Amino acid sequence: MIALRAGSATDVGLVRSNNQDTLLVADPLYAVADGMGGAAAGEVASSLAVEALKNGFDRVGTPTPDSLITAAQTANRTVWDEAEAHPEMRGMGTTLVALALVEGPQLAVINIGDSRLYNLHAGDLRQVTCDHNLVAEMVAEGRISKEEAEVHPRRNIMTRALGVEPEVPVDLFVEEPVVGDRYLLCSDGLPRELSDDHISAIMRRLADPAEAARELVDEAKRKGGNDNITVVVVDVVDVDAADPPPAAAVPAGDEATTAIPAAEQAVPAQAVEPVVERRSRRRFWRRSDRDRRAVRRAVTPRVVGFVLLFLVIVGAGAAGVVWYARSAYFVGLRHSAIVIYQGRPGGVLWMKPTVAQVTSYSTSDVLAVHIPALQAGQEEPSIGAAHSYVQNLVREYQQAQAANSAPTATTPSTTVAPSSPAPTTTVAAPPTT
Ligand code: MN
Repeated sequence: MIALRAGSATDVGLVRSNNQDTLLVADPLYAVADGMGGAAAGEVASSLAVEALKNGFDRVGTPTPDSLITAAQTANRTVWDEAEAHPEMRGMGTTLVALALVEGPQLAVINIGDSRLYNLHAGDLRQVTCDHNLVAEMVAEGRISKEEAEVHPRRNIMTRALGVEPEVPVDLFVEEPVVGDRYLLCSDGLPRELSDDHISAIMRRLADPAEAARELVDEAKRKGGNDNITVVVVDVVDVDAADPPPAAAVPAGDEATTAIPAAEQAVPAQAVEPVVERRSRRRFWRRSDRDRRAVRRAVTPRVVGFVLLFLVIVGAGAAGVVWYARSAYFVGLRHSAIVIYQGRPGGVLWMKPTVAQVTSYSTSDVLAVHIPALQAGQEEPSIGAAHSYVQNLVREYQQAQAANSAPTATTPSTTVAPSSPAPTTTVAAPPTT
């Protein structure tokens, strides 16, 4: 019988002041969530999401891939409702990647955001999930290379997150469980520091999932630890095989109960050989409604002959244009000042955008890479979202400034000895956010 064995580890890293990641090990359900949002909101979002996912999943008698999706959507609603109820938490959200052994048996995987699930099969590491972030999409579209993506200033910008809208599209992947396969769920703090080859090497080297998880986190810290790092390592095992321990490890007194024939005990090495290829048909699909915006705007008059209906549609259309023109906000520039406008960039028909608020920031407070977007007008669904966008730009710039100044303070050329008692030297402290 197929079963899962897991080990996990999480760490705040070396730069962040709090750990906004949450992990779940609740056989047969495993998850990692990476929260975002000011103050404590990120932690609230990730832990709420994981708790709601587990409750939703536990409610169904026989879990299926669909019940995992439903549980993820319930989690989305839970975080959204919480944010709606507490204005100080507005805008909080989280990633969520989860793996569950469901009816079949199959392995169901759901993903929202840029946490990841990898599969290690016969020594080959493969990323199963697709990252929902701007840079990953640019790579997918062929606009930038994978190498450029790793250093791209907008690599933290997610295109999908749990809890930031009342509904969220959920990607689903279904895998056939193969005994001997290993899965890795992780927050972006791991791949940010370690290449896929490096991750693969650690996963192959350490047989115990808990040891592998610990080493992945420790290695990511050694390589920088710029973000919270969370990993769950899940092995697919066959419990009928009774996991025969190496002969030397079997206590003498247990021989009667384990009753392993001597001939089998003599070949313990075969027990850890890669298991026979059984992945004949690997099903794979993803749900995505990246086109939903286009669908929403596609107004097709179905019955052209009904004049009255036609007029109603025209009237509604005109109202829709007014609503469309005025319902949105965008962040743009007036000379060099960053300004929040109500309306659409460039205006719609006769309706020009109006200034909703002039922020205290200018183009010198944000990274140059964002200025084209500001010149074009960055659209946001609400004035609150526009504010968050500006705040994020400013924070990103400040973090970049801090990051630029940090290495110079720790180069070997400085004379600060670690044990120096002289308190006059200022050593760059990690930025607190
Ligand atoms: Mn993260």
